[in-house]
Amino acid sequence: MAKNSIIVEKNVVHSERVCCDGGPCYGHPKIYLEIGANRQTKCPYCGRVFVYAPKSASGNKIKN
Ligand SMILES: [Zn+2]
Repeated sequence: MAKNSIIVEKNVVHSERVCCDGGPCYGHPKIYLEIGANRQTKCPYCGRVFVYAPKSASGNKIKN
């Protein structure tokens, strides 16, 4: 059996800052992750990968 049989879940996000708490399967303390220069980041706790994708190229307004 292969050791790396875990399917890495990729989450597309529209913000350069995401929070992860592991979800129902891998619950862990809630942390915030910054999207890196390669437009993605990985949660050190549960291994989830977050891929940054801008919502739209036109008329994009940032709301906080
Ligand atoms: Zn996580």
